[in-house]
Amino acid sequence: MANPDKFKKVIAHAKEYGFVFQSSEIYDGLSAVYDYGQNGSELKENIKKYWKDSMVMMHENIVGIDSAIFMHPTVWKASGHVGAFNDPLIDNKNSKKRYRADVLIEEHVEKINIKINKDVEKARKKFGDDFDEDQFRSTNGRIIERQKNIDEILSRFKTAFEKDDLPDIKQIIIDNGIACPVSGSKNWTDVRQFNLMFDTKLGSVSEDADLIYLRPETAQGIFVNYLNVQKTGRMKLPFGIAQIGKAFRNEIVARQFIFRMREFEQMEMQFFIRPGEEDKWFEYWRDARMKWHKALGMGDENYRFHDHENMAHYAKAATDIEFNFPFGFKELEGIHSRTDFDLSQHQKFSGKKLQYFDPETNESYVPYVIETSIGLDRMFLTVLSNSFEEEEINKENGKTEIRTVLRIPEVLAPVKAAILPLVKKDGLPEKARKILEQLKYDFNCQYEEKDSIGKRYRRHDAIGTPFCITVDHQTLEDNTVTLRYRDTMEQERIKIDELNSIIDEKVNFKKLFKELN
Ligand code: ATP
Repeated sequence: MANPDKFKKVIAHAKEYGFVFQSSEIYDGLSAVYDYGQNGSELKENIKKYWKDSMVMMHENIVGIDSAIFMHPTVWKASGHVGAFNDPLIDNKNSKKRYRADVLIEEHVEKINIKINKDVEKARKKFGDDFDEDQFRSTNGRIIERQKNIDEILSRFKTAFEKDDLPDIKQIIIDNGIACPVSGSKNWTDVRQFNLMFDTKLGSVSEDADLIYLRPETAQGIFVNYLNVQKTGRMKLPFGIAQIGKAFRNEIVARQFIFRMREFEQMEMQFFIRPGEEDKWFEYWRDARMKWHKALGMGDENYRFHDHENMAHYAKAATDIEFNFPFGFKELEGIHSRTDFDLSQHQKFSGKKLQYFDPETNESYVPYVIETSIGLDRMFLTVLSNSFEEEEINKENGKTEIRTVLRIPEVLAPVKAAILPLVKKDGLPEKARKILEQLKYDFNCQYEEKDSIGKRYRRHDAIGTPFCITVDHQTLEDNTVTLRYRDTMEQERIKIDELNSIIDEKVNFKKLFKELN
């Protein structure tokens, strides 16, 4: 269920606590470009580690690379991006707002879906335990009518999209009475295609310079290096190449904070396989990626698959993993069966052979590819929005207080432990700093002595620090500290010697990786 109020709070919180800042804020910002602050950049690094290690360390046959952002301009002709990396855009003449035509249609369909789900929920309440959802959906007149409407819109859109029939895409918007969300008007311009790639000039004298592009995806850097890696790494099929890096898209409508940015980061893995094995490996990666997400414990009900109706120009099959963001279920990751499209295209445009000699079959062929592609910033947003909570505490003694806490999965938390001397005297700061020395080689820790202990706890709740370690006078006598847990606020007396292993147990990726293996 969409929750715009919560989303606003998450955005404000992200800024207030050093997670995400608007780029160039002192110059009034740059639209759809963001900077990550002291806590945000740590969280981002931890997400990268979770992804990269789960790919490269946990698979003998996956290796990582780091390719350049700039590539030869012909790469983008071969990949189809120069000709086909377009979004259909439409303007509303009254509000002067610009939209992606496909998104307007998708949102309209989603509204009908919500109505269907409401009817189902009403019936579920009415019939209780005897309720049979499948039967209800297939026999209820109103639902059948609405589902038919959805199917018609989607199939008409699919045909228009495939044929690049822009007038019909506009007609779908008109026929379905889709209005501008801002002005409510149905006064639309024609639909036009808009290429999403940024370009720039290579060379110091711009007149002589070649036009090159800022990569709109990291995948092509993997394809053009496929043979380099295969040969130098002596890789045998099936094998994968993983990469994390920046990508750039001149998005028509950049909204929803870091969900849709013009500069963002992707984590992509291309898995090279024998032709004919693509269905098996597509299923494998579809399941493996869903498991990776769910292992974080952010609620299984917050994820769903969405199989594509409209495939990209290269794809044989495609599915999205969608997450329940505060503005509803939206794409977080794509899993694509890309056939041999990319390698064959690069073979054709470069004139270089990109074949694999299969020692088992004694044949040479261009491998097929399964791709998993996830936006790092979108993943960041899932963690931030899902972990943000305003909790009522101290209700029992009539002094209800709101505690803002980020229940970030411990492995991803920016700061793992805060070390807090109860007072700034009596040798407690010195003792606390010794504990910091003991922990800092393994964990990102913070030492804080300013403000009351309560205030310091709240500050660390707000950035998602799972452990607060308080050093008091008793510590000096018996080498024990109070360990406070972020989620339950429970406190325990613990020996200093035990701290490393208690923290490690929760923040080490090992347990997660074992679950995934
Ligand atoms: P969308 O339909 O939302 O535009 P897409 O299908 O074009 O996304 P892909 O080309 O499959 O996206 O890119 C793979 C992943 O990269 C997406 O699942 C998403 O997580 C991320 N991504 C794509 N565009 C952006 C963007 N503008 N800002 C942030 N992340 C993005």
